[in-house]
Amino acid sequence: MNILDNAVNGYIESLIKDRSELLSEMETFAEAEGVPIMELAGIETLLQLLRIQRPARVLEIGTAIGYSGLRMAEALPDAAIVSIERDENRYKQALHFIERSPQNDQLDIIFGDALETVQEAESKGPFDALFIDAAKGQYQKFFDLYSPFLAEGGVIYSDNVLFKGMVAEENVENKRIRNMVKKLKSYNDWLMNHPDYHTVIIPVGDGLAVSRKK
Ligand code: SAH
Ligand code: MG
Repeated sequence: MNILDNAVNGYIESLIKDRSELLSEMETFAEAEGVPIMELAGIETLLQLLRIQRPARVLEIGTAIGYSGLRMAEALPDAAIVSIERDENRYKQALHFIERSPQNDQLDIIFGDALETVQEAESKGPFDALFIDAAKGQYQKFFDLYSPFLAEGGVIYSDNVLFKGMVAEENVENKRIRNMVKKLKSYNDWLMNHPDYHTVIIPVGDGLAVSRKK
């Protein structure tokens, strides 16, 4: 389910141009294997913001199979993308897809838990953009661990902050999901009130927060 009205989202998606053969293959793979890559209108929004921002170095938390990483590399031909993934199968899958891509040289994938790869990532920084798209319960930790490596005027993008619209629901039945919603709402509150950042939440894809360092 998309948080935008389905008809409107469908209309927007219908206008988005087809991707390369490799990227389409990755989209099909993700769909078949249940890999939660970014939704189409969501990634297009992120890419457009990145084209405007023009970061030289991007740090992504949550590579999955490398789809968003490759798309960012394609949208930013001069940028270097460092990305962290803790799931070994997904990490290997990402390497297989990336080696087939013309953007191969722009990507550097770190295998490990982002809660433990801080030093390695720091050695590859500083970064102009940070993209948080990993375990939803730990966004604030990722933000606190990695925002120190953000360059002056840098931007932090957080995906899935509206969690299928459930952050706006009164009662969530499932206990595990209710707990996740609670954590995301607390992240959103914290982020919107962070004294060092201006943040806006864009209701596209699964909800994209854009935070610019003051
Ligand atoms: N950005 C990708 C989708 C990422 S899905 C895209 O749009 O193409 C989220 C990924 O984050 C999953 O593959 C999961 O294994 C990974 N992940 C979750 N918590 C993590 C952590 N603490 N450290 C590293 N990776 C993590
Ligand atoms: Mg996501």
